[in-house]
Amino acid sequence: MPVTFRPELDPLRPYVPPKSWRMAAEGTDDSYAKLTSNELAFGPLPEAEAALSEALPRANRYPDSHASRLRQAVVDANPGTETRNVLVGNGSSEVLLNVLQLLPAPGEVVYGWPSFSLYPSVCAVLGMTAREVPLTEEQEIEPEALLSAVTDRTRAVILCNPNNPSGTFVSLPGVRELADELPDRVTLIVDEAYKEFVDDPSYRDSHALALERENVVMARTFSKAHGLAGLRVGYGIASERIAAYAERVRFPVSVNLAAQVAATASMQAREKVAGRAEFVVRERDRLQEAFRGGNLEYIPSQGNFVMVRFGAADFERSGVLVREGEALGYPGWSRVTIGDSGENDRVTAALS
Ligand code: PMP
Repeated sequence: MPVTFRPELDPLRPYVPPKSWRMAAEGTDDSYAKLTSNELAFGPLPEAEAALSEALPRANRYPDSHASRLRQAVVDANPGTETRNVLVGNGSSEVLLNVLQLLPAPGEVVYGWPSFSLYPSVCAVLGMTAREVPLTEEQEIEPEALLSAVTDRTRAVILCNPNNPSGTFVSLPGVRELADELPDRVTLIVDEAYKEFVDDPSYRDSHALALERENVVMARTFSKAHGLAGLRVGYGIASERIAAYAERVRFPVSVNLAAQVAATASMQAREKVAGRAEFVVRERDRLQEAFRGGNLEYIPSQGNFVMVRFGAADFERSGVLVREGEALGYPGWSRVTIGDSGENDRVTAALS
């Protein structure tokens, strides 16, 4: 008799990485602009690099399992927050996982779809049923539609804001309304991985919502605007109750030494991070204008990427690697990450 596995894992397939990851592993990616994974085009800030060099000789020691300095840096950047409100994780992926791990299974998790592929896989691993709510025709998540999908069995609602891959977002009053209307027994996880790229001036201090309500969590990452995707570190802001419970399920040292020091230094230099995000927003405008100029359909984005109706193979012929829309629920489309000026020039050149 062979070993048997949990049947709910049967539909899961190992993550199929974007082509650029495979090419990087083979060393065949050198001449391409790599715009597949919503990374930042720039390396870590010099402040983060200096912190890394300083910490490296101490790599024989375990780091602070509580990541106290990192939590303090998050507190300093988010007025009104205290360290007891902060979650940390090996990427915001772990923060999302840890919060969902706290909720009784079986049960249901509601989220808009298409969205981030981690949601269905984490649900399956945890024995939760995914309730995927279709986006509107404008490819927006409709809070009312999420609320309509909530049942007695719902444990959590995940709002990806801005949403990956559509790039659309729900305004802060809209998020607040969703939180107000959701039953207290349902946890609202707002996945703000791309928050720094939202240019709507009213989207400020969203973390206040998580401080006001015991059932709301903001999940954020250092992988995007901070340019630290390779180090794997994210954080969350939540009620003290959720943050304390999350420590019960988190692996004791899930955020490594390099990640802790680099993320702390980067958060302390957040004005520079904001400057880089502003560059991304300007370049996003430029690309969207080029798509309009080329009469290409695209979804106006608040993330560091834009979905456009232009084939990935056509981009690749011009030396630009993008995420194939087929993998994301948009056949015939591509998700183009905003790169540096030169990379974005290559995107516009590919259109002609
Ligand atoms: N949320 C969303 C919506 C994402 O797109 C991503 C990364 N692709 C993440 C979370 C996870 O990022 P990380 O684990 O690197 O923090």
